[in-house]
Parts: sequence; structure tokens; C-alpha cells
Amino acid sequence: MNEIKTIAVIGAGTMGNGIAHVAARSGYEVLLCDVTQNLLDLGLATIEKNLGREVAKNKITQQQADEARARIVPTADRASLSRCDFLIEAATERFQVKRELFQDLDRILRPEVILATNTSSISITKLAAQTSRPQQVIGMHFFNPVPVMQLIEVIRGLQTSQQTFEAVRSVAIQLGKTPVEVNDAAGFISNRVLMPLINEAIFAVMENVATAEAVDKIFQLGMAHPMGPLTLADFIGLDVCLDIMRVLEEGTGDPKYRPCPLLVRMVDAGWLGRKSGRGFYWYS
Ligand code: NAD
Repeated sequence: MNEIKTIAVIGAGTMGNGIAHVAARSGYEVLLCDVTQNLLDLGLATIEKNLGREVAKNKITQQQADEARARIVPTADRASLSRCDFLIEAATERFQVKRELFQDLDRILRPEVILATNTSSISITKLAAQTSRPQQVIGMHFFNPVPVMQLIEVIRGLQTSQQTFEAVRSVAIQLGKTPVEVNDAAGFISNRVLMPLINEAIFAVMENVATAEAVDKIFQLGMAHPMGPLTLADFIGLDVCLDIMRVLEEGTGDPKYRPCPLLVRMVDAGWLGRKSGRGFYWYS
């Protein structure tokens, strides 16, 4: 395995700009790739704002922030990623999008380069099968907001090699994160356990067992969760929660993952949580 100096990040959205931020702050050169210059500019503006916030909190100096920013090279030209040593894909969560990307990146990148994906729910094994290097495809599931959250769930596909796993573990540590190993299965661990909790909380509200406020208070005060499951669902996005429940239901064939009808109705109404101004709570 060659030394990893340059990391390509695909997607400059919520997760991609956070991953680019952390990688640049950790000393890597970052090639940040999205489909248009406008999307890249938006991602870079978020990175600059978040680096500024770290300076204001005395976590890093202004010079460190400037150096991190200077290590990020934005590009809308996928072919220019050919010089990267490691790639993290954080593009839109649609299989068709990722399939096309993995097939093309497999042609563009040097044969030894690892393709890591930040997917929340798509099978790592299935993405790996789009390439001629399935032993070098792996899940690297970051959490939002990336500069703040400590965990990376590292997901082995059926064909992921031990060498790839070790390389990813060392990149994760270099990024200042804590990698936790899991195998490829619907929802991995985080969503397989979290989403049914959220779904059950929604059933409780639908069945009028308690209000959303009461459910959340029970988890905050009784289980020391920093936020209750319905506040968290609003934060994640109710559409995202519904998509993940459907992936669990389809992936396992187990009816225990049936999405709550209230969740389906709220998404149908466009009540998607914080991002749409209304979910279980109102947001101005
Ligand atoms: P997002 O919509 O904020 O950003 C996705 C970006 O990918 C967009 O800017 C889009 O233009 C870009 N993109 C789409 N197709 C592309 C292509 N072919 N080449 C380059 N860029 C492309 O989405 P997000 O929330 O950042 O999610 C990205 C990935 O991270 C998804 O796989 C998602 O499941 C996963 N994820 C999200 C969260 C979260 O909380 N948002 C948490 C963990 C994992």
C-alpha cells in the first residue's frame, strides 16, 4: 500500500464538505469533486464557515484554518481525480448515481486505490461488484456533523480485504476519529438499531400513548440521550428516516421494520422535519 497523501471526496454536500474539512485539517491534500462549480462553491463556503467556528472556539489557530483551506482543491472534472491515493464517495444516496460513479472511478483511479463509500444504506458488496477491485471497496460511514462526531462505522463488504480494512482504520485514526468495525447488512448497526427506535416512538405518538414532547423528555431525562428520538428524527429528516426503514424492511424481509403510517403521512405532506420548517416540531 502506497502512502496516502491525497484524498478525493466525491460530493460537496452535507457530508462531503464535512469529510473534506476533516481530511484537510488532518494534513491531507483534498480533491473535492461535485457536478457543478456552484455546488463546489457552496460546499467550500460551508467549510470556511465551519473552520472559522473552530478558530472562534480556540480549537485551531487562524493559520491552521488557512492552511487547511489551502489544501482543498475543488474540481468538477472527475478525470482529475486520477492522482488521488484514496477516495471517499459521499454523493447522493441513490444506487444508480453510485453505480455509475463506481464503474467510472474504477477506470479512472490507479488500481491500488481504495474506494470508500459513506452510504447510509446501500450494500457495500453490491457497490463493490460494480468494480474490478471489490477487495478494495469498503464502507466508511461518517456521522453528521462530520467535524464534531467521533464515530466512523467501517463496513466490510463480502469481498473486502484485510489490507483494505487496515488501511481504512489507519486513515480514520489519522482523521482523529474512532473506527468501529461492522459487517455489511441492511442499515449496518447504527441505522438498524436507531431507526426502529425512532419508528417505534412515532407509533407511540400515533397511538396517542404520549405527545412528541413527552416521548423526547423520557429519553433525555430517563436514558440521558442528548436529544429525544423525535427531535433527532426532525434533525435527520423524516424522508431520510422513511427511506432507511424501507431499506431495512426490504433488505431483511422482516415485517418488524414496517414504517409507521404516521411517518409515511408526514412525509407525504411535505413535513420533513427541520429542513422543511415542520416535522414533529415547528422550526422558524
Ligand atoms: P447531499 O445531498 O447534501 O450531498 C450530495 C452531493 O453529491 C450533492 O452536492 C450532489 O450534487 C453530489 N453529487 C451527486 N452526484 C454526483 C456525482 N456523480 N459526482 C459528484 N458529486 C455528485 O447529501 P449528504 O447528506 O451529504 O449525503 C451524501 C452521502 O452520505 C449519502 O450516501 C448519504 O446516505 C450519506 N450519509 C448522510 C448522512 C447525513 O446525515 N446527511 C449521514 C451519514 C451518511
